[in-house]
Amino acid sequence: MKRAAALILIFFCAVCFTFAEDKIFYTDGPRTSKKIALTFDDGPGKATERILEALKEKNVKATFFMVGIQAEKNPNLAKKIFDAGHEIQSHTYSHMNFYKYAQEDKAEKMKEELLRAEKAIEENAGVKPYLVRFPYGYSRDDAKKTASENGYKMINWSFGLDWVKKLDGEDVYKKYVSNIRSGAVFLIHDLNYNEAFLSFIGDFIDEIKSRGYELVTVSEMFGFNK
Ligand SMILES: [Zn+2]
Repeated sequence: MKRAAALILIFFCAVCFTFAEDKIFYTDGPRTSKKIALTFDDGPGKATERILEALKEKNVKATFFMVGIQAEKNPNLAKKIFDAGHEIQSHTYSHMNFYKYAQEDKAEKMKEELLRAEKAIEENAGVKPYLVRFPYGYSRDDAKKTASENGYKMINWSFGLDWVKKLDGEDVYKKYVSNIRSGAVFLIHDLNYNEAFLSFIGDFIDEIKSRGYELVTVSEMFGFNK
């Protein structure tokens, strides 16, 4: 019986390992460890400097999902993010909405968006991305296939709403605070969508820390190392 139990255990471990290896798409980190990741999308852009200052002041590292075109337009900012020690990943080349793209060449287009962004980010920020967040959180099977075939994992987020126009900065801040929990991946934009909210970034970091959470990059959250 003992041998049978051991064999069953080995079988389950093998299955778990296989699934862990095959997993491509992530949104939340583990609920068991008190870690939180801040992620900044769509830049480098208008709000990047301000965000970098807040992160530096609070001694926190975050993850920037860069748009390739933005990295080409703002190479100094892209480099500054890298020099500050933050994680830089891909948000595709031109921020196309693949939910709305219905042409026959969709698969090729998706691959092109991924690889052009990779080149633009590597040339301008000095680092090659290996995680992608498709714009608008596009996460259908064709995106997973494209990511997987090109050596990427896909990352979405557990909470974000700084693009909602009718909310003022403090309302947005309160909603972010109410979503603080283990494994949370927060989405914020570094393109000045809600300028008033940006002044709360430092407070948000303080609030997260005061509740005993550690702020980590996405790769640290999920245990990726590349
Ligand atoms: Zn975006």
